[in-house]
Amino acid sequence: MSYNEDFHIIPLLRDKANGVDIQPFTSVETPFSAGESAGVPNSSGAISEAATRLPLSLKPLHYLIRLQPFVNGNFSVFGYMEVEMEALEPTSNITLHMLDIITKNNTVKVLHSGGVEQRQVGIKRHHYDPVRQFYVAHMDEELIKGERYTLQMEFLGYLNDQLRGFYRSTYRDDDGTTKYLAVTHFQPTHARRAFPCFDEPALKATFEVHLARETWMTSLSNMPLAETRPVEGQEGWVWDRFERSVPMSTYLVAFVVSDFSYIPSTSGKDTLFRMWAQPSAIRHAEYVSEVGSKILAFYESYFNVSYPLPKMDMVAVPDIAVRGMENWGLITMIDRSILYDPDVDSANHKDTLLEVVAHELAHQWFGNLVTPRWWDDLWLNEGFATFVAYIGSTYAEPSLKKMEKFTIERLHKAFEIDSLETSHQISVPVGDPSEISEIFDRIEYNKGSQEVVSFCMLV
Ligand SMILES: [Zn+2]
Repeated sequence: MSYNEDFHIIPLLRDKANGVDIQPFTSVETPFSAGESAGVPNSSGAISEAATRLPLSLKPLHYLIRLQPFVNGNFSVFGYMEVEMEALEPTSNITLHMLDIITKNNTVKVLHSGGVEQRQVGIKRHHYDPVRQFYVAHMDEELIKGERYTLQMEFLGYLNDQLRGFYRSTYRDDDGTTKYLAVTHFQPTHARRAFPCFDEPALKATFEVHLARETWMTSLSNMPLAETRPVEGQEGWVWDRFERSVPMSTYLVAFVVSDFSYIPSTSGKDTLFRMWAQPSAIRHAEYVSEVGSKILAFYESYFNVSYPLPKMDMVAVPDIAVRGMENWGLITMIDRSILYDPDVDSANHKDTLLEVVAHELAHQWFGNLVTPRWWDDLWLNEGFATFVAYIGSTYAEPSLKKMEKFTIERLHKAFEIDSLETSHQISVPVGDPSEISEIFDRIEYNKGSQEVVSFCMLV
């Protein structure tokens, strides 16, 4: 596959070098006029599940993602993506999720991979549906069932401060200077804010990620670093290319660009395990590093399934919308929950920390390796991880007697929440992105884990 190496980065940066700054973003919008949406809002304003789902005619196989985030600049992100797809049915449209991204229409190309050479297929019209967050390329000709096609696109993104998609976080170093980092949070429907994609959990594909960073920073993604090379014409910048991933859902893709330090260790079959935190706090990450690698190795033998990736990075993030996120091979967690100072922090803090770490590590199997097809079965994901976290943390720290607390902390809580009028069944039909976000609640975790225990007892 070929792609344009320059993709407009160099001319823009040359402008900056000449003393002209890149235009700061004042707003982020898609360049398309709001087309009519086929989704029909229901009484609550949400649209039905069927109307928000992607068409079944195309299946993504592999993504190549290249991003250059200006973490220490105006927070813009220069992006390029290619997605190789198989046509499962004849279709004249290519529909992807996309949000808060500006595409450059004249850079969108579709190539047909059949035959010896790739052939470009013409695009009749670009269309954006803001309700369903769909970008649609209407093709000149019908795509042939069973054939492979590649869509390429350049785009402009933005490191927002809303803790979703590709966003920015900050901390103050020892001198009181504000330092920036770029982090992702994609679950459930925010990968589409970082790059156009088939943003549904069942549509797994492999990913090759390239991140540009300034030389004094570090970049991380789900897979190990494969190669670093200079960004041509941009002194002080390098491209990091990461190894191709295993097939995975878009919500588990992750990137971090920071100046953090790390503690290395190994786990199980020599899986590299690194715990990352801001330099002044890295000493408080030692406990997590120790128990994290221990729990990962324990799960491998307990489930009798090897951890599928070659490495695990855990990052203590200053700003994150959740306590922890199980991105495959690159777990992000709120730093307050996982940094531990034995001289200051309580046993209760240790208890919580252990549970978060064991929960996110359990997801590396439950959720990441085995994934529910759609969000209505989220409870299976969360129920398993919540229950298994008690087993994992009991192994790592027997003195805390975590397993004995399961009944009180989870089962009683499940009954208590279930008695409230706001309770709901654990499997909930959801479609609209706002509905999907709403089901991440205590019911899915507590009642879900209760169901998992009942199920385990049955078998
Ligand atoms: Zn979870």
